[in-house]
Amino acid sequence: MSRSFEYARSLILNNITQLPPETVPLLESFGRALAVDISAPFDLPRFDNSAMDGFAVRSEDCQRPEVTLQITGYIPAGGRGEPSLTQGCAVKIMTGGPIPTGCNAVVPFEEAEERETEVIIHGPVNSLDHIRFRGEDIRQNDLTMSTGSALRPAAINMLASFGYVEIPVYRKAKVAILSTGDELIELGDPLSSDVVVNSNSWSLAAAVHELGAEPVMLGIARDNHASLRDKLTAGLEYDALITSAGVSAGDRDFVREVLAELDVKQLFWKVDIKPGRPTTFSLKGTTPVFSLPGNPVSSMITFEQFVRPALLKMMGHRQVIKPLFKATLKEATRKKPGRVQFMRVFITNENGELTINSSGDQNTGIVCTMLRANGIAILPAERDFFAAGETVTVQFI
Ligand code: AMP
Ligand code: MG
Repeated sequence: MSRSFEYARSLILNNITQLPPETVPLLESFGRALAVDISAPFDLPRFDNSAMDGFAVRSEDCQRPEVTLQITGYIPAGGRGEPSLTQGCAVKIMTGGPIPTGCNAVVPFEEAEERETEVIIHGPVNSLDHIRFRGEDIRQNDLTMSTGSALRPAAINMLASFGYVEIPVYRKAKVAILSTGDELIELGDPLSSDVVVNSNSWSLAAAVHELGAEPVMLGIARDNHASLRDKLTAGLEYDALITSAGVSAGDRDFVREVLAELDVKQLFWKVDIKPGRPTTFSLKGTTPVFSLPGNPVSSMITFEQFVRPALLKMMGHRQVIKPLFKATLKEATRKKPGRVQFMRVFITNENGELTINSSGDQNTGIVCTMLRANGIAILPAERDFFAAGETVTVQFI
């Protein structure tokens, strides 16, 4: 029985088991999902400091249009808050320098005239100007990041500020990739006119790598039970297994049969989508097996729609589905009703509005239009015609 796209994807996501956490050096956590909640161990900034290079003053001394203050000290970034500031005086201070006691404003160099031991300031100066106050960024004990957040550079910055030399994140998935087919040769084998290079393993490995998991190349299984049994058995040792081809209705499409012999439980075969109809999902214990169709375009699109969210969930991510945007179709388009169509498109920003054009021939065998696309429009199953100017849902790829 064929499943709807939404049903198939939730069935997959509901059957994904999260990998355990591990603690890694800070930089290795980049791109991975945090396995703990992070509360600020202290205020940030830790002390009141200057937001500008300038002069630390008492604003009450600087209310007239022109005042002359005595320069009594110098505080660089990394300096000490001494000397303290007394009436009629200013202390030269650099950005990040700690605010001396008595000071309640900083006057930037650009707004002051320095004359040897004196400085002329044009008032009035407002109190609190150009001071970064302790705790104005984050207060001690504030929750700053929660479990499942993807660690991007800003998160790495904050974790470093908090002193995290290492950090608990969820483990990377090791993902086995197996292509199947008698017509395939390995990349690097002599090329001839009657063979197809196993390109799918490489695009799938790249996609696995892109989302922060580790691809394991299992090569090619031939279209017979013995070869498939060998390779599939090896693949089931990893956190997840992705197979390509051999799941359609051809008389040599044995992948599902052999998975069943290996006690791998099929949760669905066939989804109402185009391309990618024969997509199959199975489980061996908690190990998911994604059997994708062999056409390169179908394998890339079904990876994007099913495997990517599943692997992100496995690796502890909270955000697993790519954001959806609304975009306006530049040309009318037709499809057969009954299946969701993933249309390869080129998304452009026209005066702040997203518009899309088809990237060309949508036949499954055409890889060029996948290459040119920067997005996928998701056209609902029940519809058959979309007028130019209509709004549809798109994702960037
Ligand atoms: P199948 O799903 O076995 O019917 O294959 C569908 C189409 O995809 C055929 O034209 C295959 O040659 C092609 N194909 C299958 N596997 C791969 C692969 N690993 N790399 C490139 N093309 C493939
Ligand atoms: Mg085949």
